[in-house]
Amino acid sequence: MKQLPPFMLMTNIIQEYAWGSKSSIEALFGMPNRSLKPQAEIWMGAHPNGCSSVIVEDLTLRLDNVINQDKVNILGEKAQRCFNQLPFLFKVLAAEKALSIQVHPSKEAAEVGFAKENKAGIDLKAPNRNYKDPNHKPELIYALTPFQAMNGFCHYSVIIKAFEKVSIQVLESELEVLKNNQTQSGLRHFFNAILSLEGKRKENALNELMLHVKTHTQGATDVLIAELAKQYPGDIGLFAPLMLHVITLQPGEAMFLDDGTPHAYIKGTGLEIMANSDNVLRAGLTAKYIDVIEIIANTICVPKPDDKILIEANVIGNAKHYPIPVDDFKFSIYEGNAYIKCQSAEIIFAINENVILYHASGETLTLKQGQSAFIPFHAQQYSVKSTGTFARAYN
Ligand SMILES: [Zn+2]
Repeated sequence: MKQLPPFMLMTNIIQEYAWGSKSSIEALFGMPNRSLKPQAEIWMGAHPNGCSSVIVEDLTLRLDNVINQDKVNILGEKAQRCFNQLPFLFKVLAAEKALSIQVHPSKEAAEVGFAKENKAGIDLKAPNRNYKDPNHKPELIYALTPFQAMNGFCHYSVIIKAFEKVSIQVLESELEVLKNNQTQSGLRHFFNAILSLEGKRKENALNELMLHVKTHTQGATDVLIAELAKQYPGDIGLFAPLMLHVITLQPGEAMFLDDGTPHAYIKGTGLEIMANSDNVLRAGLTAKYIDVIEIIANTICVPKPDDKILIEANVIGNAKHYPIPVDDFKFSIYEGNAYIKCQSAEIIFAINENVILYHASGETLTLKQGQSAFIPFHAQQYSVKSTGTFARAYN
């Protein structure tokens, strides 16, 4: 096969999930939303549920087919050996409504769970299927607009105070247990008790919660619960803001979500990069299946310190490199010009200005804001000129 060019303009799938924003992608990148449907996510990568295309000599080719033609040269020898595919999926995520509260399993738990559900004959598309693949799904979200989210448990005392304030009769004895056992096991017990509420008890608990938020319209948590209740009435996830850190990332701030951390994206637009996996265990704000036993087994019920919610970049010159503790992906943000040495296959995304890519072979490619390029490992090195900000996804 002829060597591929160093830069390939990508055409990406837009996922029209119901929770998506109809206007954010158009407003940020000037890409008109002709369908007027919600535009939840732009997928940049080779995932089978939404594979990007690339342009090679006027031909539009599926990225997975292109990669499969020459994995060693396109992915790099190390990524080919370790992953045998593009190991990450890069997205623009534009949420108008909250996404489900979720936990991602560890690699080990995913391997065990995937094998177990295969053995049990649970179809991959069945609603009660938890493990879609044997991989972990660490993810990073980088805010492009103010981005509200929940991330990790608050300190035991904060959770206790929040529940004392709303005073849910059905949960009184469980709260007493937590007060007397402010440890990981106490929190696990309490979280399990909430997720296990059923029938009349669940109804009563939620009625009491809603009564409280309707009469306390000043507090930020109460306002959030009321807002979420409009989107997900009667959902057990309405208790989550009493347990989890609620945070609004400012543009340019980022969070890394590792295995076992309960989290939810509430509203806003950002860039998201994750390992190539669909393993999501849900814990509320969803009409989908909740497997309480699996979610409890996979949740790390340890409070997250306030200063560990954001991930701080290592700043080198005009580049911000995020310290990602897994091998599946790396993520960097650049302001202005850059000289880049390829470590793997890469994706460059133009955030707010044109970005021009230059290669020693003489090839160049201009990306408008909102556009992305796929760069094979064999490009080796390239330079970038821009007066704006661009993101780089690689591994
Ligand atoms: Zn997630």
